[in-house]
Amino acid sequence: MNLELLKNNMENVRHNIESACEKAGRDSREIRVMAVTKTHPVEYVKAAVLSGLRLFGENRVREAYDKYIQVDKPVELHLIGHLQRNKAKTAVRIFECIQSIDRIETAEVLDRYCKELGRRMRILLEVNTSGEDSKHGFRKESDYFLTLEKILKLENLKPEGLMTIGPFTQDKSAVRKSFACLKKLLDKTQERFPGLDFSVLSMGMSGDYEIAIEEGSTLIRIGTALFGVRE
Ligand SMILES: *Cc1c(COP(=O)(O)O)cnc(C)c1O
Repeated sequence: MNLELLKNNMENVRHNIESACEKAGRDSREIRVMAVTKTHPVEYVKAAVLSGLRLFGENRVREAYDKYIQVDKPVELHLIGHLQRNKAKTAVRIFECIQSIDRIETAEVLDRYCKELGRRMRILLEVNTSGEDSKHGFRKESDYFLTLEKILKLENLKPEGLMTIGPFTQDKSAVRKSFACLKKLLDKTQERFPGLDFSVLSMGMSGDYEIAIEEGSTLIRIGTALFGVRE
């Protein structure tokens, strides 16, 4: 990865974040940028660290483990892909946050391994706001609330908010609708659990992060716009 190119890409992203914030009347300091390094070698991570990025996302536990064990700078690594239960033990050792919780069974397994390791895991609940079958996440609001209530009883997990992947379409209004739906669910959750610190809205990728910011995103997950197209 060419460091100059990466810095240039980063500047572009920052510029677009500023514009989207201005449009929406938001403060750009509310928005965290995650560098998504899936499929890329560790050199990309190191270049990103040198250009000031500290928050990283990976889709697969094994790939993340093999790659990030080689990174000696402290970074904050999140899992943004689906978690299989047989990978939960490794996941608890390497991630600071798991953004893809959509079943109580996975949450329970994580909670058990966290207890063994004497740590608490930050989590986000993934919601399928697009209705696309290829995507994970809660589809029914009732399911989501039932699961969240159960998760709140698990001592070693700390639910902090919601994550979604927007629909794969050129139709901007469909993308906006999907993000607005996640924001609404966050608001509802805050109303229902007023004591809970539940404020993270992880939405927006390279193709749709400006819309996500306009709709309230607090964390955008950027791969292609920083590192170029994946093979
Ligand atoms: C790959 C991926 C991203 C980054 O996608 P880009 O379009 O390359 O920015 C973000 N979130 C998730 C869940 C991903 O799988």
